Amino acid sequence: MKTPRKPLPADLKFGTVFSEHMVCARFDVDSDWSQADLSAYQKLSLDPAASVLHYGQAIFEGLKAFRHPDGSVHLFRPDRNATRLNASARRLSMPEVPVEVQLEAMRLLADRDRDWVPPAPGTLYIRPAMIATEEALGVQSSRRYLYFVITGPSGPYFRTGRSTIRIMVARDWVRAAPGGTGAAKTGGNYAASLLATAVAREKGCQQVMWLDAVERRHVEEVGAMNLMFVLDGVVTTAPTSGTILAGITRESIGVLCRELRLPFVERYIHIEEVLNGLESGDCTEIFGCGTAAVVSAVGELLDGDKLYRVSDGNEGPVARLLRETLTGIQFGNVPDTHGWLRPV
Ligand code: PLP
Repeated sequence: MKTPRKPLPADLKFGTVFSEHMVCARFDVDSDWSQADLSAYQKLSLDPAASVLHYGQAIFEGLKAFRHPDGSVHLFRPDRNATRLNASARRLSMPEVPVEVQLEAMRLLADRDRDWVPPAPGTLYIRPAMIATEEALGVQSSRRYLYFVITGPSGPYFRTGRSTIRIMVARDWVRAAPGGTGAAKTGGNYAASLLATAVAREKGCQQVMWLDAVERRHVEEVGAMNLMFVLDGVVTTAPTSGTILAGITRESIGVLCRELRLPFVERYIHIEEVLNGLESGDCTEIFGCGTAAVVSAVGELLDGDKLYRVSDGNEGPVARLLRETLTGIQFGNVPDTHGWLRPV
């Protein structure tokens, strides 16, 4: 018999409450992937020599399930996450997980824990991950891996009490260099970002804006979002040239911009162009976009000691239109003409 879910805390934080089940599959070079099995949510048992603990062969994904007004539950573009997990796997020298296996694992778990999908505007965040489990301290690709999926109901990613966020330009640290792992969703990228993020938090900022590693002048992305600028009326974002994560929200927003007849371009963006544009009024909006943060308007940008305000510091009309259109599709209030939703 199905146990009713525990009542959720009224003040639900992002990524702190997990549902009752998980899905696991194991890989061994000699036998390939096992079947993906649903089980109770439980602790993992790992050998202290498991290579993930030493050399960081670990990748993950993040997507959401949405409850529609008729009560049905839908995943947003899970095929794109499955494909991206495999791109990360190739970069980290890990085995790919067949897309159909991933889709079924996510569907199975969201179906089993469908009671955990909160009503709008809450969502069920889904976290697939893969780690290297071989007990071996030689520096080489592991011969064994664990793929698993967990989920949890989630509230807003930023808890600023305001509708916009403040971000800090990172001048002292870089996130990813050409040829590195910046385009992969691997834990090391996030570990390397934590010091700058801690400094940013001390300065009252929620996230860090990364610049390119070579010239230290082109805007790349922020901690957990891709960045968009409205420059001279054009929605402008950095190209996915290997050092940033190719966000699925970013990709979806590009499609929506074309439909909504908002000029949209991917090109290198010089940080001075942004700072000058904020002063001259040519840069009217900045917003981040990502699964967890959806579309988050940036109200202020901190560079060294100088604080720049983005227009009047509130969410601008472009960010609002894109946020409302995207969440409208996700929550089933705007027709999904692209087939982005997958019913559970
Ligand atoms: N960039 C980074 C570094 C991220 O961690 C994320 C979040 O997953 C994104 C961008 C946005 O990607 P997506 O829209 O697929 O969530």
